Amino acid sequence: MFGPPGAGKGTQARLLGEALGYPHISTGDILRGALKDQTELGKKAKTFMESGDLVPDDLVDAIVSDRLKREDCSQGFILDGYPRTIPQADFLESLFAKEGARLLTLGIKVENSILLKRLSSRWTCPRCSRTYSENLAPGTVNGLCSRCGVPLVQREDDAGEVIAERLLVYHNTTRPVIRYYRERGLYVEIDGDRSVKEIFDNIIDIVRERTDLQPQLRSPALQGPAGLRRRIAH
Ligand code: AMP
Repeated sequence: MFGPPGAGKGTQARLLGEALGYPHISTGDILRGALKDQTELGKKAKTFMESGDLVPDDLVDAIVSDRLKREDCSQGFILDGYPRTIPQADFLESLFAKEGARLLTLGIKVENSILLKRLSSRWTCPRCSRTYSENLAPGTVNGLCSRCGVPLVQREDDAGEVIAERLLVYHNTTRPVIRYYRERGLYVEIDGDRSVKEIFDNIIDIVRERTDLQPQLRSPALQGPAGLRRRIAH
């Protein structure tokens, strides 16, 4: 799942993971966890993350390669925020070649001006990484995560100059990766300036068209009135 910071890729990756029964693997979340727990990985990644730069490829490749060995990835997985460079894409291809895995990449596109606005008013749950916009935060019961009940925080790298740097890094380093997948016919772009549900519906249509997977829409909010009626009837 591709998308600049603030495009909603984390939210959509989580929803798609739930719909397919696949783990949602976010390299950003894993790195933030390592930073918080002050592990060796966290110490190595700290300065890069705090300035909005990419963490070196070998560190991130090792995270992904370890994570994909786990049993819950045996049927499939959603990668969120990886690969972000051509060497990472090559590394992933070598992992996939070994496993005979197939790949589909989805990119959520949103203009920079909208991203800047969204990021500076974004609140994140430090436990489950769900994000909320400032308008929504008060509605989430006194700024608490509606799922975990813990206070929402603003990510340090969602602040002024760091946002600008992350957007620049995204466009400079990740665009070639998108071109790499586009040339291989594996990339589909999605308009991200819409509601979460509209974007998700679009993603589900693409998954149904381009793969033989059967996503199950588990969240009633995303099923629409017909889905709600079905659930109530059972
Ligand atoms: P994200 O939550 O995906 O925006 O990632 C937050 C930060 O983690 C990024 O700004 C990078 O510093 C680091 N990071 C996450 N994924 C990668 C990756 N694939 N390659 C390099 N750095 C990454």
